[in-house]
Amino acid sequence: MSPTGISILGATGSIGASTLDVLARNPERYRLYAVSAHSRMDRLAEIIRVHHPEHAVVSDEAAADKLAALLKEAGVRCSISWGSEALSEMASADEVEVVMAAIVGAAALAPTLAAARSGKRILLANKEALVMSGSLLLEAVREGGAELLPVDSEHNAIFQCLPAGFDYGLARGNIVKLLLTASGGPFRTLPAERFGDITPEMAVAHPNWVMGRKISVDSATMMNKGLEVIEAHWLFGVDAERIEVVIHPQSMIHSMVQYVDGSVIAQMGNPDMRTPIAHALAWPERIRSGVEPVDFSRLAGLSFEAPDPVRFPCLRLAYQALKAAGTAPAILNAANEVAVAAFLAGRLSFAAIARLVEETLAAIVAVPASCLDTVLGADREARSVANALLARAEKSR
Ligand code: NAD
Ligand code: MG
Repeated sequence: MSPTGISILGATGSIGASTLDVLARNPERYRLYAVSAHSRMDRLAEIIRVHHPEHAVVSDEAAADKLAALLKEAGVRCSISWGSEALSEMASADEVEVVMAAIVGAAALAPTLAAARSGKRILLANKEALVMSGSLLLEAVREGGAELLPVDSEHNAIFQCLPAGFDYGLARGNIVKLLLTASGGPFRTLPAERFGDITPEMAVAHPNWVMGRKISVDSATMMNKGLEVIEAHWLFGVDAERIEVVIHPQSMIHSMVQYVDGSVIAQMGNPDMRTPIAHALAWPERIRSGVEPVDFSRLAGLSFEAPDPVRFPCLRLAYQALKAAGTAPAILNAANEVAVAAFLAGRLSFAAIARLVEETLAAIVAVPASCLDTVLGADREARSVANALLARAEKSR
């Protein structure tokens, strides 16, 4: 059998690195066709030197020139293209069977849609695309005959806990609940009165996972879990009432499915994204991932608690957006991206992230997400409203 061709969207990120690691452990099965990156050309050049993709895609001409110079210096050959068209092309090329969608944020939407329309197996790490336009992405997957396999650890866990042949989008009557586990992030036990002291450095230091900065802040506010509730709704066709968040600080159980007969099926493993990546790559087979086996003799205990809605209002906002439906999740997502970027830039306090999202949601009327233009319009409007609210908040400081 010839090796499976793969494109990695967002190869320089944390998920990109884990994906490259799994591929390198299974060289007989996979052939890296293309990689993309937005910044960090030095890192991209190093990836190309080590992993030999045929193509590299970057965001603009200046980045392409920089990469070309770095590759020339290193004596490495690889064709380079730039821009959003090129990104969609690397996700839909005939040479590719599997696309890893690991670009952070709304920028992943267009290439992920391109992969869906051209019938690829999509390993979905990016959750923002599904949150923004769940029904459109699923429609593109159906029409293109693509496969959508979740890489987000919780959704990958749920996928593993569902019966074989479970059809995406069909809420089975025998499932009582999906239980999404959450570590609770770095501020799980921090008293409310100390939330004012939280700095970006504190927020990106996650206790159990090493991740990109945006998702790390989302984990600290618990918006990440909120986005994951919406992601689970679309992936598994289960409504908001049957998706419950459970805090589990050890991050050993990655999520669970509760059935009508009282059974709860959980998926466990050390917290390492190479497990869900390897699972989605090889499914329904299993391959090496490099993840250490669980040593139960050293496991001190597993604990569970309910999330605190007062210190972590983002979770409530995500449920609210999911129930409002239409473009509301896209508005939530865009406002959150603006708020997190402002927090990381020192322009917004940690507690103000949720306020900015809540005010943006309240300021815009959600409409049915009937087509891509409507969703992208809601995304743009939410960014502009959130930026205006941000500027006003800064003035009054
Ligand atoms: P990261 O910040 O480490 O990497 C992001 C990647 O996207 C980089 O390669 C970057 O160059 C690229 N990128 C950023 N902005 C871009 C733009 N405007 N256009 C094109 N490319 C752009 O992020 P990450 O932690 O690897 O996360 C990637 C995605 O996977 C996110 O959506 C995140 O929510 C999801 N995810 C990550 C983890 C994790 O453990 N890191 C777990 C579950 C889900
Ligand atoms: Mg997750």
